[in-house]
Amino acid sequence: MKDLKDIKFWLFDLDNTLYDGATKVFDQVDKKMSKFISEKLNVGIEEARRIQKNYFQEYNTTLNGMIKHHKIDADEFLEFVHDVDLSFLNKDKDLEDEIKKLEGKKIIFTNGSRAHALNVTKRIGIDKLFDGIFDIRDCEFIPKPSKEPYKKLVENYKIEPQYCIFFEDIARNLKPAYELGMKTVWIKNNEPWAAKYSDSNFINYKTDNLAKFLKEINELR
Ligand SMILES: [Mg+2]
Repeated sequence: MKDLKDIKFWLFDLDNTLYDGATKVFDQVDKKMSKFISEKLNVGIEEARRIQKNYFQEYNTTLNGMIKHHKIDADEFLEFVHDVDLSFLNKDKDLEDEIKKLEGKKIIFTNGSRAHALNVTKRIGIDKLFDGIFDIRDCEFIPKPSKEPYKKLVENYKIEPQYCIFFEDIARNLKPAYELGMKTVWIKNNEPWAAKYSDSNFINYKTDNLAKFLKEINELR
């Protein structure tokens, strides 16, 4: 872990990274997406679910597929799917303490919306700790793991990739970061599609506890 001593750019995915996937926040978003498709395309929920998963597979976000094939309004979609119950998402004092101690720029990099990132980080008690949120609009609706948003993010925040580390629960999203020269950390989980490629060489570290991992880095300094 010594190689993480000089990190000065900290990139965090949002969902299932800054909070535990077991909280089922993203499960609700997932269900809202099915509902949106069912209503928009006038199909049953089973069919909507099939379409949703196909688009996710093919275009990396359901939203991207819906824009390409059905010309839907992105803002309407994002607002609808992120309108979920976050009341059981608790303050995370350990995470707050460790993020506070990190030196350098801290940025959230999400395939979701800025509003959702703000709602979630407020619940956890870490909303004031970041220098920026790079959301799906900033990505111009080209989601991770396409290379474009990573490059745009690096440019926007003047990131030096060799001093940057990226934390993310979907293993394949770490690949472009690694290829740009960043360090990568996979947040362990049991979602088959998120864990796919988690044994690849583009993953430098793995952890099942983000706060603890950050603590170890903070103790190197
Ligand atoms: Mg995630």
